[in-house]
Amino acid sequence: MIPNSPIRADRIAADIDALAAITEPGRPWTRRAFTPKFLEGRKWLEQALQQLGAETRIDAAGNLIGTIAGRRPELGTIMLGSHSDTVPDGGRFDGIAGVVAGLEVARALKDQGLTLDHTLEVVDFLAEEVSIFGVSCIGSRGMSGTRPAEWLKRTNDDVTLERAIAAVGGDPFETTPRDDIKAFLELHIEQGPVLQNEQLDIGVVTAIAGITRIEIIVDGRADHAGTTPMGARKDALTTAAWITLGVEELGKALASGEEHFAATVGEFEMTPNAANVVPARVRMLIDARAELRADMERFIEELGKGVAAIAEKTGVTVSEPRIVSDNQPTPGHADLLDVLDAACDTVGARHRRMASGAGHDTAWMARITKAAMIFVPCVDGRSHTPDEFATTEDIALGAAVLLDAVLALDTKLQETN
Ligand SMILES: [Zn+2]
Repeated sequence: MIPNSPIRADRIAADIDALAAITEPGRPWTRRAFTPKFLEGRKWLEQALQQLGAETRIDAAGNLIGTIAGRRPELGTIMLGSHSDTVPDGGRFDGIAGVVAGLEVARALKDQGLTLDHTLEVVDFLAEEVSIFGVSCIGSRGMSGTRPAEWLKRTNDDVTLERAIAAVGGDPFETTPRDDIKAFLELHIEQGPVLQNEQLDIGVVTAIAGITRIEIIVDGRADHAGTTPMGARKDALTTAAWITLGVEELGKALASGEEHFAATVGEFEMTPNAANVVPARVRMLIDARAELRADMERFIEELGKGVAAIAEKTGVTVSEPRIVSDNQPTPGHADLLDVLDAACDTVGARHRRMASGAGHDTAWMARITKAAMIFVPCVDGRSHTPDEFATTEDIALGAAVLLDAVLALDTKLQETN
């Protein structure tokens, strides 16, 4: 199907269908990490890996790994993969496409009778999505030694994350980061509309945006909505509305450059939220994402100034913006981006470089190895919904890019070592 590539789209289609069939009854498509359906999906994956001759295991962090030993295992490991867990009522492709693409790369190598010098591993990371324990990327953070120790005490229905990791076959107290992985590549659906709109096949991901969450509290005064004159109110909502519009304006200004930037007021709680009361208080939570740290710093600075100016104008008390969480952007490794661009050219994929506005396991893997990812198109940019769709041909072309990149890296990594 793909000229000059042993990657087979029909096998990818069959894999995706098989995993899609494993879902909570009446809730397509739902396979949340740690649930019985998730474990059933993993059982299927484990067998698929074993069928192609991989040795399978669950690592200490709870990730499912299929290993195909290299001819010179002392060189270390090239790893491919993503995650098989879904959000509730999620899609068939988010994460799954990357795991299946890794599986197909390994199968295509086997078909060709090719064994790499490096050991090849295909990974299904544990709980990339926000899990029943309220945290995400549990497996990739575990593998990279960046899973906060206090997470183990988190609970769901009286079960701790510590016990849940042990129950899937991991060892919650073994937290040594892997040091043998020489490169990690992840294929993922774009979850946005850019590739489709530009009629491209592959996005080579320059960076995974840093995410900063900022809380603002607006303290007005509750008064009777019928009797308090318009000029004599301290309306928290109207002040919060000015701030929201300011966030949008600032976001648009920072997004006008080449690099990705987005800012959203995603949470908004008003009290008392009653028809006949002037709103007394609003709590808002801003989610800001930047490819460049400098853009984020500018956003935080301008937001502080803007909020102070609005508070002065409206006479309502506004808290200083409080940074609730703050993650740095993760650039894709420059060597890998070059290899991926070249692989796109080799297989004839139309490609561009672009940032990821969403978080991914790759961001954590980048802490311990050269890491990068590619995007394949996703219809209308829809994701985290049952309507999520990517064509088998697009995923297969992405897998062909991965295969070519893996073959190139198997040599190149030996030159640079
Ligand atoms: Zn994902």
